[in-house]
Amino acid sequence: MVLAQPTAEGMASAVALLRAGGLVGLPTETVYGLAADACNGLAVARIYAAKGRPQFNPLIAHVADLAAAERLVVFDPLSRALAETLWPGPLTLVLPRTPDCPVSQLAGAGLATLAVRVPDHPVALALLRAFGGPVVAPSANPSGRLSPTRPEHLAPQLADVVLDGGPCRVGVESTIVQVVGGRLRVLRPGGVPIEALRRWPIDATPLSSAQAPNAPGQLHSHYAPTLPVRLRARRPRANEALLAFGDRQPAGAAYTLNLSPSGDLAEAAACLFDHLYRLDDTRFAAIAVVPIPATGLGAAINDRLRRAAHRS
Ligand code: AMP
Ligand code: MG
Repeated sequence: MVLAQPTAEGMASAVALLRAGGLVGLPTETVYGLAADACNGLAVARIYAAKGRPQFNPLIAHVADLAAAERLVVFDPLSRALAETLWPGPLTLVLPRTPDCPVSQLAGAGLATLAVRVPDHPVALALLRAFGGPVVAPSANPSGRLSPTRPEHLAPQLADVVLDGGPCRVGVESTIVQVVGGRLRVLRPGGVPIEALRRWPIDATPLSSAQAPNAPGQLHSHYAPTLPVRLRARRPRANEALLAFGDRQPAGAAYTLNLSPSGDLAEAAACLFDHLYRLDDTRFAAIAVVPIPATGLGAAINDRLRRAAHRS
């Protein structure tokens, strides 16, 4: 893996790689993405191949600002208000493609809608501005596995170059929202807590699987370490690694990491995938996880942990 610093030279080589259809490991505030030119179907195909991702799963188009997003998708008033308030930030909007949307059909999995987001990370924004077009950037991990939140989490052969942006500030993927009938629907909990969306009309009815077949983040087994994951553990076993939170740190495990000794859910989200990488070690039989509160970013944390625990 080639790790590049985000200097003028490093950014120029990343832009040249994107133009040539290459794959760039891109730091964002959520997780590291595997970025490709969204308008280049061959480059997009390389993402699916590198990740081993099922081809029917659509990708998120990342752009530098709202004006760039308006070239790709048609905004309704509520979606525009969300974008104006929460972009740049960990919020993805699913919207109808414009008639002349240049994003490859493969990137959108042939759907009439496209997921778009403006990331809140100086390196990602600088790359998007220098590149001058949309970039698709799913998490830079083999499909179904843990998302990378540090450059060293990226598998060596995945990207042509990885821009070093240090650890990701938010640490869980974006919240995905779609406006249906004038109300927000949350397709995937993520870095924007649901509580922060409640000032707009919101439809809390859970989506049936028939309504949401297109979200890999919605597959039952996803974000999974190699070891089995045991949730709501109150008494860890001697052969288990323990993921603790706050003062919920029962004794007895072979090894323990605490997501946030002070019980801060934002810190826990930022550490989640890194701690899971470090506990995912064949020295242990399983990863036991203490109960985590479900409020704020706890919703996204619990969503990822449930999928990490699910064996399909
Ligand atoms: P990731 O890039 O790994 O964060 O995953 C992208 C997420 O965006 C997945 O859950 C996708 O299914 C979801 N997504 C992308 N495009 C659409 C779309 N048009 N409709 C619904 N979900 C989408
Ligand atoms: Mg992912």
